[in-house]
Amino acid sequence: MYPLLENWKPCLVCGSDRLRPLHVYRNKGRLTPEPQLALIGCERCGLAYSVPRPTEEMFAVYYSGGEGWDARASKEESWAEQRHEWYSGLLDLLRPHLELPSDRPPRVLDFGCGAGTWLDVLQDAGWETFGLEPGARLAGIAGRRHEMLDALPSDASFDLAIVHHVLEHLADPLAAARDIAGTIVDGGRLFVSVPDLGRVHLHRKLGYTANELHLVSYTAPGLRSLLGLAGFEIEHVLRAPEFDAFTAGRPLRLRVLARRCGEERLPEQEEPLAEAVESLRALGTIESREARARPAKPAPSPVARTARRRSRAAAALRGLVGGR
Ligand SMILES: [Zn+2]
Repeated sequence: MYPLLENWKPCLVCGSDRLRPLHVYRNKGRLTPEPQLALIGCERCGLAYSVPRPTEEMFAVYYSGGEGWDARASKEESWAEQRHEWYSGLLDLLRPHLELPSDRPPRVLDFGCGAGTWLDVLQDAGWETFGLEPGARLAGIAGRRHEMLDALPSDASFDLAIVHHVLEHLADPLAAARDIAGTIVDGGRLFVSVPDLGRVHLHRKLGYTANELHLVSYTAPGLRSLLGLAGFEIEHVLRAPEFDAFTAGRPLRLRVLARRCGEERLPEQEEPLAEAVESLRALGTIESREARARPAKPAPSPVARTARRRSRAAAALRGLVGGR
């Protein structure tokens, strides 16, 4: 059913051939007809990504057409109040880690700003706010208060860039991260939030970390590699419990604050893929134990069905590597 792993080499971020299959899962999305997708990982940089991918045309329709991503615009008003509260709390947590200019208002760019709620909070706090958003209706809402850009500027003028739940969606996250680096002043900061593959055994939302739209799955080492190759250095992995308050205590998200350092290099990390491998293995152990603890009969439980699916997925995984 699956093309051999060879077809997915080299790694889309670091160019290495040292890829390995991590997991096979049921495709619940609608863009591709594939019944299952495979999560593969790069042993050199620690990135993981799902294949096969939707085509660029499918993505363009999803993000820029009226029905996919942009359809969220109709829900934004009902979400606005809670989001405003979350982002205010996030800004309070980030503020001690930012170095801001004293002679002018700080400037922020939100890359993939949606309806601009994060920017609303920053503007209220005195920031000059700029947004980039592919969804036309969402951009229309954000544009009521913020300067909307059609493309990233080529000069460096922002003190902070926000990439909030965007990097997992991008077919070429390294190119985007490099372009964003070019817009940040020397010593400026980048805030990134992505679903956390490294804690999938704790939050147990594998479908949130890897799916047809979340093409790239990140652990802290994988994100460190990507940002290092784009000219950033991670200063803080923001994993304190107060950050998880925004997801009702579940450690769903990996949030980092990085500093633009200018030098593009793959940071030295020992076994950068280990966190993904170990977290997925721990998740499998937990789910198998739960499946075994269930009574053999009556009707199959969702957990047992999951276990059977995983067993089929394991067979597919063996197929992926050509029987090795
Ligand atoms: Zn790689």
